[in-house]
Amino acid sequence: MRKHFVYADNAATMPVSERALAAALPYFGEQYGNASAVYTMGMKAASALLEARKSAAALIGAEASQLFFTSGGTESDNWALRCAARVGAEQGRRHIVTTAIEHHAVLNTCKELELSDFSVTYIMPDSSGLITAEQVAAAVTDDTALVSIMLANNEIGTIMPIAEIAAVCRERGVPLHTDAVQAIGHLPINVNELGVDMMSFSGHKFGAMKGIGGLYVRDAGRLPPFITGGSQEYGRRAGTEPIPQIVSLAEALAESLESITEKNARILALRERLTDELLAIPDSRLNGSRSSRLAGNVNISFLGVESESLLLMLDMCGICASGGSACTSRSAEPSHVLTAIGTPSGYISGSLRLTLSDRNTDEDVTHIVSSVREAVGRLRALRG
Ligand code: PLP
Repeated sequence: MRKHFVYADNAATMPVSERALAAALPYFGEQYGNASAVYTMGMKAASALLEARKSAAALIGAEASQLFFTSGGTESDNWALRCAARVGAEQGRRHIVTTAIEHHAVLNTCKELELSDFSVTYIMPDSSGLITAEQVAAAVTDDTALVSIMLANNEIGTIMPIAEIAAVCRERGVPLHTDAVQAIGHLPINVNELGVDMMSFSGHKFGAMKGIGGLYVRDAGRLPPFITGGSQEYGRRAGTEPIPQIVSLAEALAESLESITEKNARILALRERLTDELLAIPDSRLNGSRSSRLAGNVNISFLGVESESLLLMLDMCGICASGGSACTSRSAEPSHVLTAIGTPSGYISGSLRLTLSDRNTDEDVTHIVSSVREAVGRLRALRG
């Protein structure tokens, strides 16, 4: 097989963009001050922090005072769920509504809350991976403290009708959190148009450094602190702010949203070709909705193939892809997402997730298709 490096795992992480790196570099070097310090170098760090906060907030339609920096999507999800549960418990509400296909940052946090007397309703998606506002309306009770539903799924890329769900939550007086980790930087997002109360995101999914993310909170005054200590992040999340990472996040977000419509149209054209050509392989099926889906996401299963073997063969061809989400790809558990959407068992273990960015080319698609076709053929032949 011919070797040609193709990075097609952009939902797992992305390279730090040159622009984001260039913006961050001075804060590793000559401007390394602590943003809480009173001397000039500290004030320069504080000013970079404020500018980054204002800029990132404006890019999602929020105020700077509504945006809290965190270590990433996992922490933001934990903060949103645990603090909403705490506020709910104070009001005598001990029920959470979520979906069966959330990221484990949400699902495992819900499991923990179940151990402390919370009940959780896990809404099941339809076979295309979507849930509806009507399902949310049916699941919410007078006891519900929070609804948490992802904006876009990390395995199959499906985009949930969050604005419609937000209307239901508003009517019922229940706060809505959305895990937008896969969506921010890939879709134009305005928190007011979406109508969410809290939103998690993560820098490394759109070209910023790893270890930095954020939580948008509409009514920030009511948000309990998550990490106690110093007065950073308006006294809600203590710890010296990582200025280079924060600056990289604001720059990468601005860059990723520039010409997003044109970029997505290019990525979509690649994805459609990739999807059609992979589905031409016999006994294959697309997982998740084809239309309500992130532009770069392809998730296809091949009957009679183990994804781990397929991934190793693709790696030998220079292709980086994944089986399910990156976080679960080393676990032997079948994908909870593919299981929840009712994928036939023979197809669950043979899933391949390819996630494209605007760095990918037509030549990449050609290489992926020929490599997958050959690898699937060989693996099926080995099984006899
Ligand atoms: N939520 C979703 C939907 C994700 O895809 C991920 C990462 O893959 C996370 C949360 C966790 O984000 P982080 O890696 O920044 O902790």
